[in-house]
Amino acid sequence: MSGTGGTGGTGGQAGPDGLIYPLGLRVEGRRALVVGGGAVAVRRVAGLRAAGADVVVVAPELSPTLADLAARGLLTARTRPYDPQDVEGAWLVFACTDRPDVNAAVAADADRRLVWCVRADDGAASAAWVPAVGRTSDAVVAVNAGRNPRRAAMLRDRCVEAVEAAARSDAGGPKVRGPERAERAPRRSGLVSIVGGGPGDPGLITVAGWQRLRNADVVVTDRLAPLALLDQLAPDVEVIDAAKVPGGPATRQEQINRTLVDRARAGRRVVRLKGGDPFVFGRGQEEVEACRAAEVPVEVVPGVTSAISVPAAAGVPVTHRGLSQGFCVVAGHASPADPRSAVDWQALARSGLTLVLLMAIEHLGDTAAALIAAGLDAGTPSACVADGWTREQRVVTAPLREIASAVGGAGIANPAVIVIGDVARFASGSAVPIYSADPVDPLGATRSDLAVRAARARRVLVLGGARSGKSVAAEEMLAGYETVDYVATGTPPGTGDAEWDDRVREHRQRRPSRWRTLEALAVDDVLAQPSAAAPVLVDCLTTWLARVMDDSGAWDGQPDAARVVADRVDRLVRAWRDTPRHAVAVSNEVGSGVVPETASGRRFRDELGRLNARIAAASDEVWLCTAGIARRLR
Ligand code: SAH
Repeated sequence: MSGTGGTGGTGGQAGPDGLIYPLGLRVEGRRALVVGGGAVAVRRVAGLRAAGADVVVVAPELSPTLADLAARGLLTARTRPYDPQDVEGAWLVFACTDRPDVNAAVAADADRRLVWCVRADDGAASAAWVPAVGRTSDAVVAVNAGRNPRRAAMLRDRCVEAVEAAARSDAGGPKVRGPERAERAPRRSGLVSIVGGGPGDPGLITVAGWQRLRNADVVVTDRLAPLALLDQLAPDVEVIDAAKVPGGPATRQEQINRTLVDRARAGRRVVRLKGGDPFVFGRGQEEVEACRAAEVPVEVVPGVTSAISVPAAAGVPVTHRGLSQGFCVVAGHASPADPRSAVDWQALARSGLTLVLLMAIEHLGDTAAALIAAGLDAGTPSACVADGWTREQRVVTAPLREIASAVGGAGIANPAVIVIGDVARFASGSAVPIYSADPVDPLGATRSDLAVRAARARRVLVLGGARSGKSVAAEEMLAGYETVDYVATGTPPGTGDAEWDDRVREHRQRRPSRWRTLEALAVDDVLAQPSAAAPVLVDCLTTWLARVMDDSGAWDGQPDAARVVADRVDRLVRAWRDTPRHAVAVSNEVGSGVVPETASGRRFRDELGRLNARIAAASDEVWLCTAGIARRLR
């Protein structure tokens, strides 16, 4: 499949782009010459090697990657300047140096010898172009889009999606196709893919895993799998919760195995979606064996294990030069005193390795005591990371001797990972600059930078002056959510002030229509709703405070009124601090130097300044907008 966009969008001129003859080349075992040793050459070499070509690279200097491939005998390197003789014997030539004169000479030599040459530096002068390529299980998609590689890549992605969707509905279950087509469609053999879904964040599944999931007819999930991804599956996909498969703990696994086998035998693509990696305390091998015994095709797609990624979510690297030369992942679900525990805790205590304990909350006290008794220093830094990669993530740190009581005191339950060792010193409770998930579409076009960065923080304060872009920034932070509770704190329209009504209307039009607008002053009540509710956007604290001061008659400095305002402010700050919801609040950065003329103006400025500071202190992130530019302060 191939397309050219050469004539479209260029005023209809039929340039050389319109005269392309798409072709698939079988390069296996044939010589491909790459002239150049830099980054472009690396990309071409990678593609050619994947297709089995016999690659020769000519360059006076090779990048370390190419030098490494050459040293391992995976390509032939000629480490010297290009010589016209190099083209001899090549089926295909790539001119990828950073010198246009050399590239032109290579292209001319190739032309003379009737060999196709791709010039990396000058598409217009090139005899051949490399399309944007995508592969699905049964098709190769190649797109040329004029000479715009980004557009080609974007179109390629869309084509791949369309091909995959078509493959699904061609061979999908009976719900998708009509009975007539079902008769005629070739019978497809089923497949079980045991997919590691990563630690729970939808962005941390592998590309292969996501691809299997998107093409699944049946998905059997676990509690710790990245469930947010299920939302993106076609409605006809059968989703089975493994925890709900009937049977006691012992027989449940057999029932799950049977479900996998039965569905696959019916010709369906079954994904067994697991948390982390299927081969780390995931019973992956048991399911592989069950499929093999039933002669059902089965594959395993590895995943990002929580053993490494959950400590990382709290900023803890499991190894670090000078601190830890390795790590050991251990299941802590049995107490060391339990005769069924086969772990040599003495050896672990002496190992000098970082210890990563999974399923270890229940017996943490006994486990820590056993390690200390075996000689591990009671002061060894330790950390517990619970609900890693979710918005509920919590981190508790303590020396080994106190970790169990600290975890117990914080009321932490599974799932949690315990890290014991000097690297635990890196643990921080705040969101780490490692990666922020896009909760809506992990692999699709990314939303604005702001939205991605705000996704994991629970409480975000956005400050700014009038018309600084603060509301727009706040709205963008929540743009990926299906719905948002928008709390408008200003005076509702319809009071007779036409200019105000216009402002409110303009504001409303900017927001997606699916957002719910609450005209409410009881912001604390809205914040107290459970976390499962949509995120909240409070716009803004300035108007909220002005109305609270209005209601109480505080402008004149009445002592009673001041108490009422103080009480409302306290309640708001508390609600903000304790909110279980993802919340963004907008407020004005006021009075930077200008002293209002009236006493009430000064009172308001002071009151708002103090409110902002208190809200900021209880926020996970604080942003400042100036002239349409948003900057994170904390
Ligand atoms: N196969 C999984 C592990 C399954 S055992 C993997 O490779 O990650 C289940 C244990 O994994 C839990 O008890 C907990 O210790 C850990 N775990 C999994 N996901 C977690 C998460 N998001 N946050 C904290 N711990 C997690």
